[in-house]
Formats: sequence, C-alpha cells, structure tokens
Amino acid sequence: MRPVIDLHSHSSASDGTDSPAQLVRAAAAAGVDVLAVTDHDTALGWADAQTEAERVGIEIVPGIEVSCTDDGRSVHLLGYHLDPEHPELVAELAKARTSRETRLERMVELMIEDGIPISWDEVTAQIGPGATPGRPHIADALVASGVVGHRDEAFARMLGTDSPYYVHHYAIPAVRGVEVVRAAGGVAVIAHPFAVSRGHRHEERLIEEMAAAGMAGIEVDHRDHDEADRRRLRELAAGLGLLVTGSSDYHGTGKHNRLAEHTTEPEVLEAIRGLVGG
Ligand code: AMP
Ligand code: ZN
Ligand code: FE
Ligand code: FE
Repeated sequence: MRPVIDLHSHSSASDGTDSPAQLVRAAAAAGVDVLAVTDHDTALGWADAQTEAERVGIEIVPGIEVSCTDDGRSVHLLGYHLDPEHPELVAELAKARTSRETRLERMVELMIEDGIPISWDEVTAQIGPGATPGRPHIADALVASGVVGHRDEAFARMLGTDSPYYVHHYAIPAVRGVEVVRAAGGVAVIAHPFAVSRGHRHEERLIEEMAAAGMAGIEVDHRDHDEADRRRLRELAAGLGLLVTGSSDYHGTGKHNRLAEHTTEPEVLEAIRGLVGG
C-alpha cells in the first residue's frame, strides 16, 4: 500500500492546539504514515514528536514553516530536514519570534484602546513555554474569556490583515529565506501560495524568483486553494521544474483542517529527501 504522507502540521510549539506527542498520536490515528512537523519559526516540537513517532510507529519529517515577506506581505516557506543549529537560520528565526511577540503585544494594546476586553496576561497564558507567538493565541484568549466562540470568529472580526488592530512582524525576504533554508541543508517548498482566504495571492513572479534561488517545490493541494488555483500552480511547477506537494496544515482544534485531508506522493517525498544537504 502507498504510504499516507502529510507534509505540513502545527503543534503547541507554535499555534497548534495539540502537544507534539498528541499531534503524532492524532496523525497515527488518522492513518498518516509520514508526518512533517512544521511549526512557525521553531524546531521546538521536533524531539517530542520524534520520540512519540518511534513509539507509535510513524515517521517524522522535521520541518519549519519559516515566516518570510515579499513587498510587505507575509509569505510562508516550508523548510524540510534543515539543520536547526545553522547560525544564520537560528538568528533569523529568533528575530522573527521576538518581533512576533512585540507585534502581538502591540495588537493587544490597540484592541484594549478600542475597548475590547482582553489583557496581555490572558494572551501569554495561551502560549506554550518557548512557543512561537501568533495571532491564534490572541484568538484563543478571546475564546477563553467568551468574547468569541472560535478562532475563526476572532480572525473574521478582529485579527485579519485588514483589521485596524493588525500589525506586521519582522520576517526575512522570501528569496533570502530560500537561500537560508538551503544554507542550513534544507529543502524549501512554498506553502499555500494562492491562499486568498489569508488576504493575498502571491504573484507568480515571486514563485519564479524563489525557484531561481533554489526552491524545490510548491504546496499545491491545500484547502485554501480551489481547483483553478491548483491547476495553475501545477502548470507553474511543471514549467519551473518544481515538485508538487499536498498537506493538511493541521492546527488541532484551532482550525478545521483535518490531518491527511491532502497528501503528498511518495515519489515527491523521495525527491525531497534526495535534495537534503544539496
Ligand atoms: P500569524 O502567524 O500571527 O500571522 O497568524 C497566522 C496564523 O493564523 C496562520 O498559521 C493561520 O493558520 C492562522 N489563521 C489564519 N486565519 C485563521 C482563521 N480564520 N482561523 C484560525 N486560524 C487562522
Ligand atoms: Zn499557524
Ligand atoms: Fe502558513
Ligand atoms: Fe501552517
């Protein structure tokens, strides 16, 4: 039987609601054979995920969803099998995490000024020790205090990129992000590039520039892409000689994405593994 491969998931090391061990157990229960643990800007969850994966008999692909930027907009870059101790990568991730925290504090200040019942303490209570802070943690604080019913509602009402409370955080330019992932021996795949539900559809020229910098693939099969998006992305990938991946982008109970709702072909995973360290 062909293995079930899901190359994008989040744990409580960033903004997922499952601990790394819970995430791995949930993946095994969902029939996943190979799971990439790709928290935002951190490798914090890898060790616990690996330990649990050995226990339940599934494979982990270590990964990081690196926050990048292009023209002031957020770009997500999946890096697989990278060296989490590579100095330049470590420095960039630390910079992004610090800026994410400052930016979250600023967003909370703006919300308080506008009379929204929330405090910074309530937000930090939602962030695991050492975890990468993100807007979902503000959403969780609002859910915990009953201001909204679900993360979705918080994003729709207060946390979207078009919200008056939205504040940017530092992120590495996307082309440079590809270079750093590669310098750290990793394989770079752009995450959900046409996900308009996130406020923006990346330009094709950005994908071309990232490919020229050595990016290996495009995440095509993702719930935020419709059929036309996927068709166009497959054409782009074919034209640029890029791999095509599919994945769930599971965040536990924080998002509706189900593990293995989209998957990656085993041949593509083999190709990714063949590029590690190259
Ligand atoms: P940030 O990293 O702070 O920019 O927040 C982005 C994260 O919020 C992404 O990882 C998304 O998965 C998550 N997110 C975006 N929109 C929603 C939503 N409507 N419901 C739940 N999570 C969301
Ligand atoms: Zn996330
Ligand atoms: Fe993402
Ligand atoms: Fe993600």
